[in-house]
Amino acid sequence: MVTPTSLFLLRFTVEEDCNALLRYGHTNYKGAIFIFKRCLVGHALRSMNFDGAYLWIQVEGLPVHYNSVSIASRALSKIGRVLCFDNESLDPPIRGAHRAKVWISLNRPLIPGFYFEYEKGSFEWVDFRYEGVFVLCRVCGKIGHKEKYCKLCPQKRSREF
Ligand SMILES: [Zn+2]
Repeated sequence: MVTPTSLFLLRFTVEEDCNALLRYGHTNYKGAIFIFKRCLVGHALRSMNFDGAYLWIQVEGLPVHYNSVSIASRALSKIGRVLCFDNESLDPPIRGAHRAKVWISLNRPLIPGFYFEYEKGSFEWVDFRYEGVFVLCRVCGKIGHKEKYCKLCPQKRSREF
C-alpha cells in the first residue's frame, strides 16, 4: 500500500543515472519493494500509480518435455502481463528456468507457483521465482511482511489463480 510517507522523491543531476534506474524499474530494501517512476512536469505525486511493477520472474520446474517458452508464457499470463523473455533463457538447459519481465499487480497476492498437469491426473509443482522480492508472506502472498504480522483473517486466506 502506498501512503504519503512511503513516497520518496529522488533528484538526478545526470539524466543517464535516472534512466538507468527507470530501466531496472524496482529494487528492494529490507524486504520493502521500491518502484521507480518518472515524475513528469505538472504531475502530483498522489496522481502517480504505484499499483503494479514490472518484475523479473523465473518459471522453474516445468517437466523437461514441456519446458517451452509458450507454456511458460501461458502460465505467466495468468498472473500478469508478460512484456518480454530474457533472450538467454529462451532455450534453457534441461534443469533451467525461463525468465520473463511481467507486469504484476502489487495489490493482489503473489502466486508462488502452480500444479502443471502434464498428463491426465499427473501433476508437477512449478515455481514462480520473483527476483528481488525477499520478504513475502506465505499466508497472504503479499510483499513486505511475514506470516507473523499478517492481518488477513484465516477465512480469507485463500489464493487466486
Ligand atoms: Zn500476509
